[in-house]
Amino acid sequence: MRILGIETSCDDTAAAVVENGRHLISSLRSSSAAIQQKFGGVVPEVAAREHVLSILPTVRDALHAAGMDWQDVDGVAVTRGPGLIGALLVGVTFAKSVGSALNRPVVGVHHLEAHLYANALIAPIQFPALALIVSGGHTTLAYWTDHGQLAVLGETLDDAAGEAFDKGARILGLPYPGGPAIERLADQARPDRSITLPVARLGADSLNFSFSGVKTRLRQLAADVPDRAPELAFALQEAVAEALTRNIERAYEKYPVAHLYLAGGVSANRRVREKLGDWASRRQVTLHVPPVELCTDNGAMVAALGYYRLTKGERLGREEGPQTPWPLREAMAGARGEES
Ligand code: ATP
Ligand code: FE
Repeated sequence: MRILGIETSCDDTAAAVVENGRHLISSLRSSSAAIQQKFGGVVPEVAAREHVLSILPTVRDALHAAGMDWQDVDGVAVTRGPGLIGALLVGVTFAKSVGSALNRPVVGVHHLEAHLYANALIAPIQFPALALIVSGGHTTLAYWTDHGQLAVLGETLDDAAGEAFDKGARILGLPYPGGPAIERLADQARPDRSITLPVARLGADSLNFSFSGVKTRLRQLAADVPDRAPELAFALQEAVAEALTRNIERAYEKYPVAHLYLAGGVSANRRVREKLGDWASRRQVTLHVPPVELCTDNGAMVAALGYYRLTKGERLGREEGPQTPWPLREAMAGARGEES
């Protein structure tokens, strides 16, 4: 079963074809990041307009790269939320149009759950597991027992991990998106133990995250030692990686699983992978990370998750449109058929 996956929740117009939820056939992305850079962040109206321009060529190119015709599509999966409403609307409307023109089933998926399915393109997901989604808008830790069964254990109380990188980059005068720029700059840092950033200490039982303190301290230090930008970038990366590892350890104490799945843009970060990898080998846990190019938004993760949903018979109703805001907890309760 070949699923066309469509993703338009933020500034990337992405489309991909995945076979049976496992095999990546083609994946293409057209980003408006270069245009957004001029504004220092994502402007919703600009993103929506770029999606309108890019969606048809991106999907057509993804099908072409897969050696497929429209008729070869067996089903369509699209990100339904959360994200920018105007941006989501373009993808959802397009997916529904393709579905009705070809008479194929369409399913709408949750963007965060989809991020995790970038891992399904490497090997089948092994349950039970801990799942950590670290993206531009979310930092979510969950206990994952089956497809469609994600129990949220912790979330960020303020900035997301990716946002900490993006805002930190802006403080240090680096371009958007900040994560890759911070990582490159951190590589040039000289060892200096005196430049560190704080890791928030929440309650002893809390599995939540907080990154706003890191940002505030970074701003102060950037004013105090403006010539030490590489060391500051290094400290930021270190603080985020430490905060993630600390909560994973706490979650593991309650849920001693054999697998940890990482997803979202920040999971592309080498230091984050390394630190969680060290933790995992100490605990004899297997760490699963998506290929770097599938950490940030893409259509392949949407198609992979869509396969599981479509084969369960789930369909996007004629009246159903984008869903935002859409807390993961609510989406999971919906997947179990509970009142939310
Ligand atoms: P969400 O998924 O929460 O809606 P999003 O889709 O915008 O947000 P992603 O595409 O998953 O987020 O990831 C983008 C984020 O990942 C940005 O904040 C970016 O700075 C960060 N990021 C990308 N590459 C790296 C990296 N190498 N190191 C750290 N952060 C990174
Ligand atoms: Fe995302």
